[in-house]
Amino acid sequence: YPQQQATGSFSDYFEIPANGTLGSGHFATVFVAIEKSTGQKYAVKVFKKRRKDDGRGQMGLQQEIAVLMSVHHPNVLCLKETFDEEDGIYLILELASEGELFNLIIEKGKLSEDETRKLYNQLLNGLKYLHERNVVHRDIKPENILLTDKNLTCKLADFGLAKIIGEDSFTTSLCGTPSYVAPEILMPSRNRKYTKAVDIWSLGVVLYICLCGFPPFSDELAPPNLRDQIKEGRFDYPSPYWDTVGDAALDLIDRMLTVDPDERITVEEALEHPWVTNKPFNPAMSTDSDASLAGHMQGLAVRRTKLERERTLIADMVKESAVAESKQELDGEEEIPNGKNEI
Ligand code: ATP
Repeated sequence: YPQQQATGSFSDYFEIPANGTLGSGHFATVFVAIEKSTGQKYAVKVFKKRRKDDGRGQMGLQQEIAVLMSVHHPNVLCLKETFDEEDGIYLILELASEGELFNLIIEKGKLSEDETRKLYNQLLNGLKYLHERNVVHRDIKPENILLTDKNLTCKLADFGLAKIIGEDSFTTSLCGTPSYVAPEILMPSRNRKYTKAVDIWSLGVVLYICLCGFPPFSDELAPPNLRDQIKEGRFDYPSPYWDTVGDAALDLIDRMLTVDPDERITVEEALEHPWVTNKPFNPAMSTDSDASLAGHMQGLAVRRTKLERERTLIADMVKESAVAESKQELDGEEEIPNGKNEI
């Protein structure tokens, strides 16, 4: 990536204000950076150089740089330039001043359908752009969706795990965050090839979380274990949390969280879905045959009203975790350094 590297050093062009730390991840720390010539604010992601690198950090970084440099879309976080300094590699990124979608969900508990729709129109457009260029993100989660203003403008960020893949190429490396990984990643022997469909699955998990505030798959909520829940595509729309959410949203989630990647909705199809376009949801407009459509709608109804026992269990778990959280706050326990507690 030398051609993208700026001449001179970071401090010739930028300064980091006091209290400018935005957070840190596994490999990098992110600060606000002010461009001296314009006063424009950016984010600078600093990857420390390690004398003995295990290879992962550096490789991930080069991948991230290559991918970020090749994309230009309003809903994909943009890389402005890079500096290779003695103490680290500095990536100058667009600043997402409102932080992570993760924090917004935590703050509000959940989002309304309209708020979520606004986000999804952008996210799907960003993802369509990436998928058209054969870029698979592979690590979509609310922490990697950044907000740039208070009007819910959002961008897909953190391409540390992304890879530009050829249409026919495949990879079997296990990656992603457990709660968001697609079933085919957990069953590599059955389907060694995984592609764009994994992003749709992860975005489906995020959609579910936006609308109710808790994840569809979780070790904490109910047996079986997380991997089996995902592999079986076993999730529910427990009452009362889902009572006020419309069938169109549930239909889209079902189509995104379809275990068979070949059957899963694509980004182009999702952009046409009535929930996304906010057109009246008419199941008859669905691409399903009548018979499978009837089955699908029946399945939705059954899943909305599943066993009382499971609902109570989930409600208890949610309550317990709220109590645990407030207890933690009272105890003054330290937060995870990058503020990224699992939802
Ligand atoms: P990893 O998954 O590799 O550990 P990460 O996603 O945890 O990485 P970073 O991407 O290094 O962490 O980001 C660290 C923190 O900085 C996060 O809290 C993130 O929200 C914040 N951040 C990252 N990029 C930006 C940006 N462009 N604008 C504002 N905040 C950002």
